[in-house]
This record gives sequence, C-alpha cells and structure tokens, in this order.
Amino acid sequence: MAQQNDQFKALVAHCKEYGFIYQSSEIYDGLSAVYDYGPYGSLLKNNLKEYWWKAMVQMHDNIVGIDAAIFMHPKTWKASGHVDAFNDPLVDNKDSKKRYRADVLIEDHIDKLEAKINKEVEKASKRFADFDEQMFRQTNTRVVEYQEKMDAIARRLGAAMTKGDMVELKAIIDDLEIADPDTGSRDWTEVRQFNLMFSTQLGNIAGEEGKLYLRPETAQGIFVNFLNVQKTTRQKIPFGIAQIGKAFRNEIVARQFIFRMREFEQMEMQFFIQPGTQQKWYEYWKAARLAWHQKTGTPAAKLRFHDHDNLAHYADAAVDIQFEFPFGFKELEGIHSRTDFDLSSHQELSGKKLTYFDPATNESYVPYVLETSVGCDRMFLAMMSNALVTEQVPGSDDPNNTREVLKLHPALAPIKAAILPLKRTEDRIVAKAKELFDKLKISSQCQYDDTGSIGKLYRRQDAIGTPFCITVDFDTLEDNTVTVRDRDTLTQERVPLENVPALVRDRTDMSLLLG
Ligand code: ATP
Repeated sequence: MAQQNDQFKALVAHCKEYGFIYQSSEIYDGLSAVYDYGPYGSLLKNNLKEYWWKAMVQMHDNIVGIDAAIFMHPKTWKASGHVDAFNDPLVDNKDSKKRYRADVLIEDHIDKLEAKINKEVEKASKRFADFDEQMFRQTNTRVVEYQEKMDAIARRLGAAMTKGDMVELKAIIDDLEIADPDTGSRDWTEVRQFNLMFSTQLGNIAGEEGKLYLRPETAQGIFVNFLNVQKTTRQKIPFGIAQIGKAFRNEIVARQFIFRMREFEQMEMQFFIQPGTQQKWYEYWKAARLAWHQKTGTPAAKLRFHDHDNLAHYADAAVDIQFEFPFGFKELEGIHSRTDFDLSSHQELSGKKLTYFDPATNESYVPYVLETSVGCDRMFLAMMSNALVTEQVPGSDDPNNTREVLKLHPALAPIKAAILPLKRTEDRIVAKAKELFDKLKISSQCQYDDTGSIGKLYRRQDAIGTPFCITVDFDTLEDNTVTVRDRDTLTQERVPLENVPALVRDRTDMSLLLG
C-alpha cells in the first residue's frame, strides 16, 4: 500500500513537473477537484479523444457524432431523473466535521477485507511450491470467512442503495463500526441525500423558472436530439450517436487527483436498438470496449469487468470496465443497458413523439439504448499510470543507471519526434535541424530543442514520452542523414533526411490503433 501511495505521488508530481496537469487557480491555492491540462497534457488528452472518436465514428458507418450544448432545458433533468435521483448519500463526522459518501465508506471497508484476503493468498503462495490459488480461496477457513463477510456487506449495501434507504446505510456504518479514516471517530450524523448537480441562473428569468443546471452527463444531449439526428442522417436502427464533452458533478468527496473531479470530460455513445435485442448488444459493446482499451498496450491483467451490485434507475444491466489504478481497481468506463427509459421519459414530459418506424418490421417503437461512457480524464490517468516507469537504462550493466520514461503508445504520445542538434553552437547543424523541424511539423507534432546537452535532452523527451529523437550531427552536413533514436529500445538508426517525415508519420499514426 505504502509503495502504491509513493507510486501515485510520483505520478502526480511528474504530471506537474513536465507540464501535463496543474491544479486549477494554483496561485490562489487551487480549487478543489478542478484541474488544468498543460501543454503536453492537452496534447495527450486530444489524442485520447481522437482515438475514441475515430474508433467510434470513423470506424462505424452506423455511428455519427454530435456536439450538444452544456446548458439544456431544465425539464431535461426532470425527465432524466437527475433532479429527483442524482444523489449521493452524504454523512458528516460530528467530531472532525469531515464529509463523506456513506457508500464509499462502506466500499472502503469491503476493500479492506479484500486486501486481507489478498495478503493471505500472497503468504500461502510463498509457502507452497505447487500453490493452487483457486482451491486455496475456496477452502481456507479465514479466506472463506472474509469472503462471506464481504459478500454479505455488498448485498446489504446494494439493496440499501437501490431502495435509497438512508437509515439502512447508517445502520451498516454503525454495525461495521466504521470510523472516520482521518481521525478514528465514530460519531456520525444521519445519512442524507445530496444532489450532485451544479445549478445556475438564466439572466433574464428570475426564480425557479430560470434555474439551469450544468449537465452532469453528456448523454441527455444525445437523447433529446435522437430524432433530429436519425432524420437528418437517414440512419436505420441499430445506430449510434457519439459525443465528447464536459460534464459537471458536485462530488462530495473529491480525491485521487483527476480520478474524481467536479468538472470533467466524458466520451459517450448511445446505441439505439430494437427492444429485445439489448442482451446481444450489451455483450457486443462489452467486448468492443475492452478491446479498445487493450489496443493502447494496457496489459489484460490491469483491466477487468465489474458487474454493478445496484442498478441505476434507468438500467436493466450495467457493468464497469475497471482499471488497476495505483490505488486499486476502479471504474474507468461504464456500459449500461438503459432500456427505453430516457426516450420514453422525454416523450412523456415534452409531449413530442420519439418513436422510430422500423421498415424491417413495419412497426413503430421507442428504441432501447445501449450506452458506453468513458471518462476522458480517467482514461488519461490510466494511460499515465500505465506508461510511467523507472527502469535501468537498456543496454547498461549498471543497475543504478536508471531513467524515467513514459512508454505511451506512439499514436497517443503528445510529441511524436524531437529534433535535437548535436552541437548548438555550430550554426550549420542548427540551421539543418531547424530546416528538418519546419518540414516535419507539417505532418507531425514535433519539437525542436537545443536547450541542453544531448544526454539531458534525451532524458527530457523520455519523460514526456516522445517516441523518436532525431539528432542532427556533423555527418548530416556531409551525407544528409540523421540518427533516429527509439524511446523504448534506445536503438539508433541512420536515416536519410527526406525519409524522416514518412518514418515518423507511419510509426506514430492513429491508424496503428484503429486497424
Ligand atoms: P463513480 O461510481 O466513480 O462515481 P459513475 O458510475 O457515477 O462513477 P458514470 O455516471 O457511469 O460514473 O459516468 C461515466 C464515466 O464518467 C465514468 O466511468 C468515469 O470514467 C467518468 N466520471 C464520472 N464521474 C467522474 C468524475 N467526478 N471525475 C472524472 N470522471 C468521472
């Protein structure tokens, strides 16, 4: 755990030091759970969005994209259930005055039991040579006991959350003797519902009438445009609408850096289907989305499905794709079978028909919806935590000769190539390097850098994940070739200048992730 904490702290520090992420309004001591993306961060984030957009919209002729406004008619949020049901259970500790999410306190308690099980498994695996983990988990009395406890608590929590039973949540906290993680105090207030939507006011309408919300999810912009899009693009069911955009949630406990923010970005796709086919599409999108994550190079062991214990009011099936962040497996993406809940609610409240006439079956119906929803910022955090490694320099025998390198997939890397003159005081080398940069920048995001010795420049590019460093040296002046250094293997190849733009483009192109 301590090691994981250190790893996470190092990651946060790296993000700041190398211009990926800054605390918002830092000169005023920051704004809690709000972050700004710096020069390399915004490039990486844009690449992630491009990867998602292309995988969804470009690669599917039955998925189209939109860009809906953040503000929507206030009735939208009544129909969607957010006004009445977008709540988190809030509990205050009377001694520390700290505020917590009751369900998260209980989930943390479950995580502790899981950690105990993992410890037992680890101990036993060291003791026995032919260790059968599955058998051990099923038969070891202590492990079985922990597992039964975990399952019972999860069941109780799931039932309480589904019913919105705040009294029961408080009872679980009391029964498990859960204490304030900061102070150890067990003096809790009652648990109560807290609505997570931020509200604001239209300038020209006073009172409740003019109350607007900052959207807490991008999905509703898709639902209210369902017929507009279907008619104007002549799509037939099944078809999808994709969108990337900001969402806002007044999270009670905002921690773990960009994992839980109050302003964040979502990449959502709603897939409209014939009622009754939801199981098939649910399985299809589960597999497709997992494959999308794995393509980035994320090891399979770091991704897993986690079925929801308690379903949201709109869903008949829901699963999370969890990623193993430095603080454990947590939700990265949600896949929800939303039935016809949203379209039917909007139809009812707006009085406008939102049905689809299916020429294949000659019937009209309100389509069912399969949703995939991934947080762009969580994806960013997953990519960074996956990629950042400290390793012994390849080819070196000295274990103390280490480097910090960000092994991002080349198509996602913020800078694709750095052009480095071997000697910055040699005008002819500098001129040649700048000439190459001017050619290269037309096709790839590149950087010219002559601010240090070549060794230091390499280290810096490793730290921001640049796949290729291109060195212009004395030989270049003679034979018009340059050295191309590979970030991961450190191999160097000599390449004619005129081949460099195509080489960089081919080895860093987004198509590498899409094919
Ligand atoms: P959680 O249980 O972690 O609060 P959620 O189930 O409420 O998440 P969804 O409503 O399914 O999340 O949102 C879809 C995706 O949006 C999530 O999988 C996550 O990647 C992202 N997301 C949700 N809330 C936040 C947040 N506060 N900060 C950053 N990303 C978020």
